[in-house]
Amino acid sequence: MANQDDQFKKVVSHAKEYGYVFQSSEIYDGLSAVYDYAQNGVELKKNIREYWWKAMVQMNENIVGLDAAIFMHPTVWKASGHVDAFSDPLIDNKDSKKRYRADVLIEDYVGKLDTKIEKEVAKAAKRFGESFNKEEFLATNDRVVGYKEKGDAILKRMGQSLEKEDLADVKLLIEELEIGCPLSGSKNWTDVKQFNLMFGTKLGASADTAMDLYLRPETAQGIFVNFSNVQKTGRMKIPFGIAQTGKAFRNEIVARQFIFRMREFEQMEMQFFVRPGTQKEWYEQWKETRLKWHLSLGMGKDNYRFHDHDKLAHYADAAADIEFKFPFGFKELEGIHSRTDFDLKAHEEHSGKKLQYFDPEINEHYVPYVVETSIGLDRMFLAVFSNSLQEEELENGSTRTVLKLPSVLAPTKAAILPLVKKDGLPEVARKIVEDLKWDFNVAYDEKDAVGRRYRRQDAAGTPFCITVDHDTLNDDSVTIRYRDTMEQKRVKISDLKSIIKEDVDIRNWLMKM
Ligand code: ATP
Repeated sequence: MANQDDQFKKVVSHAKEYGYVFQSSEIYDGLSAVYDYAQNGVELKKNIREYWWKAMVQMNENIVGLDAAIFMHPTVWKASGHVDAFSDPLIDNKDSKKRYRADVLIEDYVGKLDTKIEKEVAKAAKRFGESFNKEEFLATNDRVVGYKEKGDAILKRMGQSLEKEDLADVKLLIEELEIGCPLSGSKNWTDVKQFNLMFGTKLGASADTAMDLYLRPETAQGIFVNFSNVQKTGRMKIPFGIAQTGKAFRNEIVARQFIFRMREFEQMEMQFFVRPGTQKEWYEQWKETRLKWHLSLGMGKDNYRFHDHDKLAHYADAAADIEFKFPFGFKELEGIHSRTDFDLKAHEEHSGKKLQYFDPEINEHYVPYVVETSIGLDRMFLAVFSNSLQEEELENGSTRTVLKLPSVLAPTKAAILPLVKKDGLPEVARKIVEDLKWDFNVAYDEKDAVGRRYRRQDAAGTPFCITVDHDTLNDDSVTIRYRDTMEQKRVKISDLKSIIKEDVDIRNWLMKM
């Protein structure tokens, strides 16, 4: 556990040191669970958004984009169920006075059982060497099977209790498992209560006419209320999707995992409208497509897994998370939900407007069913950033810190470095910058010895360093250095653009899907 904590601390401090993420309002001691993206962070975030948008919108003829406002009519949230049911079960520790999500305490307990399973697997893999069969081991080893059964039973009971609103049983479960306050160890708990996560605000100048509004807790409702507008003006035929990215706000009970759980965050969501009865197929298909999108970034197949929900949200008939192995263990990165016709029907009822589709193929009007894919942009950022941050032992015994971001997402694609600050080398380097900046985000760096500049760019995640030296003046060639392998090659200046493009081009990455 200490190791995981250390790794996570490194991620947070590296994100600050290299201009990726800062605490919001830091000079005023910060605002809890709110963060700002700095010069590099804003580029990485933009590139992730673009990678998603390209794959989800531009590559699909039947998916279009939308940018709905954050403020919405308050009845939207009544219809969607958020006013009545968008809450988390909270529990306070009477001794430490710390507040927790009861479900998260229980999930973390199960997470520890998972860690025990992983340790058993690692031990056995070492013992059996090449003949080790992981699947068989997982299915037959008594200890592992025991942990798994225990974890499953706990989650099932919790799911059922939450579903039935039996909060007393959730507390009982915490007591039975002897879960203590993660900070103090105390097991002196209050009862479990529900806490609504929406932020309220007011619209209008005078106190008596002001209207109570909410900051949207998800972007999805902006899509639902625009369903008919988009369908008609875009002449969309079912099945089709509407996608959008944008801010969402949740007054999270516990928010201490950096940008994993924020009070203001960004979502990338797509609602796919389908004929009733076909939702199961589409749900399976979107699960698969979304996983492929993740895998196309090459961050390791073993770092992802599906988790099917035991407790379904009020609107869903099936739901799964794509979980990612964060520094603190496997956690939800993206949700895929079969939302039925719940939302559109609810908006029909509350607005009195029809939100239906005439399907010419079967000559019928119906309220479409919806399959949603919903991913947190900030969480994706954390997944990419934490997975990329590595300490490497070099052959000469030293270590280097390198941020091996997928190059398609890297904020700066290349740094152009004159070997020395004289003899006309800076001028040549500047000329290369002037030329490449039309196609890529590039940087110029002339300060310090070139070795130090390489290390700085490695740590900032820049995939290429291009060094201009005295030979360049005669042969129009430069040295290109690859971040991940540290390999260096002599290449013509005129070839730089195509070499970089080949490596960072979104097409080459998405083709792997
Ligand atoms: P969790 O169980 O972690 O609270 P959720 O199931 O409430 O998440 P959804 O409502 O399904 O999350 O939201 C879709 C996605 O939005 C999540 O998969 C996650 O990536 C992102 N997300 C949700 N809440 C936050 C938050 N507080 N901070 C950052 N990202 C979030």
